[in-house]
Amino acid sequence: MDFKPANEIQDLQYFGEFGGVNPSISDSSTYTFLSAKTMFDTFEGNADGCYLYSRHSSPSNLYLGQALAAMEGTETSNVTASGMGAITAVIMELCKTNDHIVCSRTIYGGTYAFLKNFASGFGIQTSFVDITDLEQVESTINENTKVLYCESISNPLLEVADIEALAGLAKKYSIKLVVDNTFSPLSISPCKIGADITIHSLTKFINGSSDTVGGVICGTQAFINQLRDVNSGACMLLGSTMDSLRASSILKNLRTLHIRMQQHSKNAMYLAEKFEELGLKTVYPGLPSHPSHSVYKKLMNEEYGFGGMLTIDAGSIEKANELMELMQNENLGYLAVSLGFYKTLFSAPGSSTSSEIPEVEQDEMGLSEGLIRMSIGLDADIGRTYKHMLACMKKVDII
Ligand code: PLP
Repeated sequence: MDFKPANEIQDLQYFGEFGGVNPSISDSSTYTFLSAKTMFDTFEGNADGCYLYSRHSSPSNLYLGQALAAMEGTETSNVTASGMGAITAVIMELCKTNDHIVCSRTIYGGTYAFLKNFASGFGIQTSFVDITDLEQVESTINENTKVLYCESISNPLLEVADIEALAGLAKKYSIKLVVDNTFSPLSISPCKIGADITIHSLTKFINGSSDTVGGVICGTQAFINQLRDVNSGACMLLGSTMDSLRASSILKNLRTLHIRMQQHSKNAMYLAEKFEELGLKTVYPGLPSHPSHSVYKKLMNEEYGFGGMLTIDAGSIEKANELMELMQNENLGYLAVSLGFYKTLFSAPGSSTSSEIPEVEQDEMGLSEGLIRMSIGLDADIGRTYKHMLACMKKVDII
């Protein structure tokens, strides 16, 4: 593939109003018009390049949106106040009462809870499936299905969705393939390989400094216009708008994403190989032992690696907690739920980010209680980090 997502971001040029190397921040919620007619036309969506009110659009949000669309190879995008703000707007835009969604059963707990407990209240039903079982996915699609939903790399089990194959199914049944690409920015470009819509929680790797929440929806101009429609659009009416100051700071961080992703991936690969050698049950898409290693290789933009997320199994929640507390005390990372920080972050998803999923269902999908999810940091000397982690593992008796 000659599509180079990081180049697409860096080739964009926009200057600040005084020639600044960064675009100026649009610090306004509303905008003046020289004529009342232009204001009317803007309201009707007929005055390109004019701004009305920042819940609809603002220059800073459009700059960030343009860069993210370039990264994902889509016509355009709309940034939102959080990843959930992006996910919920897309679902509510695409589905109405009596519609049906086929969704991977291993997804972020908040998305699972929204589909199962919230969207169902509006008569939108969801069937949760093993996304790696294409026959199961296909047989679950029915005449009311509008959306096929998955994460490229699932949270927290790191299952890999075969986006190309799923796109084939989506096309066959005229439904939309929506992919949450939060775990694999740059590494996978879902819309370049057949997805209709790509979503990110910008809170994670893309922003990379754990100082804000944010989200984005990448897709066609027609779909983004629909989301922004003043009369019926889910982004406009549900109101999960990003603030301009944040859009501007995320844009600055986005420009170094390729360097960070390469380092996250390199460090995660190193640790995953070492952990596996120790005999620990280790899941990382870069390991040949990962059941979807070859699928990931087929889909990926190679130069960014297999991402920064891995899991190990400590055997029990008690051992997992003991190990995480010790690693934090030894300054090897933080016991925290998010991901994509410069420092390694670890948590036990069964009792945190996936706790919305009932225990029986956690068992069914293989989410064991001793599972530790790690977002591997940007450590300059990962060999040294490994030695210290090894000492901690020996101390708590998991190897
Ligand atoms: N998607 C994935 C894969 C996530 O892990 C998360 C949050 O952890 C979200 C979406 C939600 O994003 P946000 O917290 O920015 O709303």
